Amino acid sequence: MESGNGNNRQLKSACYSESEQFHSPSVIVIGGGFAGISAARALCDASFKVVLLESRDRIGGRVCTDYSFGFPVDMGASWLHGVCRENPLAPLIGRLGLPLYRTCGDNSVLFDHDLESYALFDADGGQVPEELVTKVGKIFESILKETGKLREENGEEDMSMLRAFSIALERRPDLRQEGLASKVLQWYLCRMEGWFATDADTISLKYWDKEELLPGGHALMVRGYRPVINTLAKGLDIRLNHRVTKVARRYNGVKVTVEDGKTFVADAAVVAVPIGVLKANSIKFEPRLPEWKEEAIANLGVGTENKIAMHFDKVFWPNVEFLGVVASTPYGCSYFLNLHKATGHPVLIYMPAGRLAHDIEKMSDEAAANFAFLQLRRILPDASEPIQYLVSHWGTDINSLGSYSFDAVGKPHELYEKLRIPVDNLFFAGEATSTRFPGMVHGAFSTGLMAAEDCRMRVLDGYGELDLLHPARGEEFASRSVPLLISRM
Ligand SMILES: Cc1cc2nc3c(=O)[nH]c(=O)nc-3n(C[C@H](O)[C@H](O)[C@H](O)COP(=O)(O)OP(=O)(O)OC[C@H]3O[C@@H](n4cnc5c(N)ncnc54)[C@H](O)[C@@H]3O)c2cc1C
Repeated sequence: MESGNGNNRQLKSACYSESEQFHSPSVIVIGGGFAGISAARALCDASFKVVLLESRDRIGGRVCTDYSFGFPVDMGASWLHGVCRENPLAPLIGRLGLPLYRTCGDNSVLFDHDLESYALFDADGGQVPEELVTKVGKIFESILKETGKLREENGEEDMSMLRAFSIALERRPDLRQEGLASKVLQWYLCRMEGWFATDADTISLKYWDKEELLPGGHALMVRGYRPVINTLAKGLDIRLNHRVTKVARRYNGVKVTVEDGKTFVADAAVVAVPIGVLKANSIKFEPRLPEWKEEAIANLGVGTENKIAMHFDKVFWPNVEFLGVVASTPYGCSYFLNLHKATGHPVLIYMPAGRLAHDIEKMSDEAAANFAFLQLRRILPDASEPIQYLVSHWGTDINSLGSYSFDAVGKPHELYEKLRIPVDNLFFAGEATSTRFPGMVHGAFSTGLMAAEDCRMRVLDGYGELDLLHPARGEEFASRSVPLLISRM
């Protein structure tokens, strides 16, 4: 499929003889995250000749299990959202026997946690009474209900969640909180911002809850996501350190150029790079993508959430699933995931989102780790310093340029679908092309399978051999059902 520097006059004949062309439809997959790998897997299983071009020196993309502490730590995705058979990743995770640690059941006000095991503190180190946290949680839910009414009244008009909150509180002064309770309320808002990786003044009132949450609650991948992606990637032709800079589509195929000028040709391409990378226009499309596609790219929101993982020599914090610090603004609040509870390793993960995440990304790794540690020391003054730390940079890393997509104020939810719709022989996959599960690993995985099937139909239609090859469904991973191994049932 590789055609050498710019030497590509006739697309198909540059890589295949006539007979090979007939029997081996070919695809280039751009991006080796869950979406790209699942598309490549499915097309390979459907007897396509597939080459996957990945800009980094590793696969996985925003799934990034780091082993430098001597055990797995997920610096990107770590939860399986929807611990149930309907989750498209469940068959594979079950078959691999990977343990899960459930952090909440369905419909928690805190999205991926419930209030079973936590400790919230005021900035001076005083612990917030549980009854107050529960009470304010109910108030937070009531405010959300009020914002729902506001949404109905407003019809087509949209506004930010922050604005909707303040209108709701004007209308219902009984829901307003003072003192410590008001800080706890800000902390709930902070957790909402963490879920969407953006500040409340950018989240759409109209569409914030349009993503689909599968049943079964949310669970951490105790051994990290890496084994899952590695299994999917087995046997694929993956070219690491291949940053795509140009995608040219012609009536008879695509030609893809990478940074060093090397080109690849195939019948079709699956573009599975992050929305942030598409927004940055670092890949040139020739001819330009249609206006509706460019608009979808420009208008979809993408937020930033980061992780600062701190490895300690011993556990000195309470034996709870997470620690939190309340403050008078969401920006001032903190959240630490206690990996020790789920995995037995003495690690706390500080997770800032939105503007705070952006600001911290401007710091050196050392300063960022210090910042996280200082937040911890505010509540646990005797905390010993971490022996190792890891800092993610999802917002500025040129391979991601954001953590995941969200519905921005005033922009339609259909943008996800518009981003997915193919353009000739270019197919699009990735979390931001998923209308059902945007921002999630299983969403990215599903869109890869969908793009693969669309691609198979289109390419084989062109070949006039629609019945010859198997459906691109990743059958091997989807069919057998093995129960998931879940702790904290
Ligand atoms: C901090 C954080 C926490 C998260 N937590 C969760 C969670 O707990 N659960 C959950 O379900 N989801 C979570 N997510 C979201 C989840 O990680 C993503 O939705 C999902 O992994 C996206 O997969 P993808 O294949 O669409 O994109 P990616 O995984 O980003 O894959 C795209 C690939 O394209 C490559 N690429 C970029 N530019 C080029 C180029 N020019 N040429 C070639 N290759 C290129 C990238 O290197 C990357 O490998 C989290 C994300 C982050 C950042």
